[in-house]
Amino acid sequence: MTDLSRRQVILASGAILIATPAAARQAGQPATSSQRWGLLIDTAKCGAECTICVDACKAEMGLGGHDRPRTDAQYIRKVNVRDPASGAAHSVPVMCQHCAKPACVDVCPTGASMKRADGIVLVDRHICIGCRYCMMACPYKARSFAHEEQTGQQPHLPRGKGTVEGCTLCVHRIDEGKMPACVEACASRAKGAMLFGDLNDQSSEIAQRVAREATTRIRADLGLEPAVRYQGI
Ligand code: SF4
Repeated sequence: MTDLSRRQVILASGAILIATPAAARQAGQPATSSQRWGLLIDTAKCGAECTICVDACKAEMGLGGHDRPRTDAQYIRKVNVRDPASGAAHSVPVMCQHCAKPACVDVCPTGASMKRADGIVLVDRHICIGCRYCMMACPYKARSFAHEEQTGQQPHLPRGKGTVEGCTLCVHRIDEGKMPACVEACASRAKGAMLFGDLNDQSSEIAQRVAREATTRIRADLGLEPAVRYQGI
């Protein structure tokens, strides 16, 4: 059992159980492939009007925006879908899926798009040349392009005009033993629709639920093997 699954926190707001990655990596220690961080999102708990995860992400990452919804950076977006056969509607949070076989990494000419050993897919903005091949290759529309000079930046997320960016799974928080900001906000202020954890740890809640419950990967047919799974769609 990893420290992730050992530590459980019950939030006073509603007895929502959250697993927290207690063990921060030691400074200088590399990520390892023994872990594969992922998310399990229960869309039955996700309200169409709720933007708590989106708002938490923007605050955490300092994504101010310029009132241009089509091009402003957004690492999570809510996508409303409807089954034409049954009429059932769902609101689905979509972010970088942190694919095991990421198309963005395959097409990047400089190596700026990269996958860590623990499966987190990132962009190194110091070597990103802004070609946007990754944006075209990503079937999840998970990346944004910084068209403007950036203001209000957070120290953990250096952003630059002319580079590509996307969800980091809050790697700065994970490496300190915390959860992604969206997961924490959803648990404390909404219905706890998002579960974060180590898919490789068979004793973790996420791995056990993935093993015993029906889950879906968006566009699994593409074979990118996302680390984000959904229920209810
Ligand atoms: S969702 Fe898109 S940006 Fe994220 S790893 Fe997969 S291909 Fe890359």
